[in-house]
Amino acid sequence: STKQKLQRKIAVLGFMGVGKSAVTIQFTEGHFAEPYSPTIENTFQKVIRHKGIEYQTDILDTAGQDEYQIFHTRYAMGIHGYILMYSIVSRRSFDMVSTIRDKLLNAVGTENIPHVLVGNKSDLVHEREVATEEGQRLADEWGVPFIESSAKFNTNIEEIFRKLILQCEAGQEGS
Ligand code: GDP
Ligand code: MG
Repeated sequence: STKQKLQRKIAVLGFMGVGKSAVTIQFTEGHFAEPYSPTIENTFQKVIRHKGIEYQTDILDTAGQDEYQIFHTRYAMGIHGYILMYSIVSRRSFDMVSTIRDKLLNAVGTENIPHVLVGNKSDLVHEREVATEEGQRLADEWGVPFIESSAKFNTNIEEIFRKLILQCEAGQEGS
């Protein structure tokens, strides 16, 4: 068969501790990794199949951004789409995700970059600091998909990557 194979590069951005590594590892390796050093940056690989197309996907699990760090320009180059992540148990990480997005859009120079908003740690219901509606409202403002996930219980993890790949396809036909 002449199956199509496409290369896709994704970066995961967000405040330290929101679960960037846990989500990436749950998706690529199928287990909940804990604990994981917040300063480690790694690239993971996984094939995502969608509508008969195989997407050879590289996932850059970035080291946590805080408000004082300058945005790495290498996060803005050669990357097809972004996962912008906060934790539903951290108001600060939710505030930070807008700052990170501003820096990202500045660095890539366009609002037309595929991205999704993720509120991770949805299993920690009793510690919730950010309502689902707040996340949804922000994503609506941005005009991007919104997903609440749990890396711990593998809830909506595939969904994140599937939605992002779809975003990428909508943005750049045939590339
Ligand atoms: P990163 O700094 O954004 O890469 O965050 P990590 O992936 O290292 O996760 C930070 C901490 O949150 C670790 O102790 C993880 O085990 C924990 N964690 C990550 N995702 C979840 C989740 O979905 N649910 C719960 N309960 N804990 C999580
Ligand atoms: Mg990490």
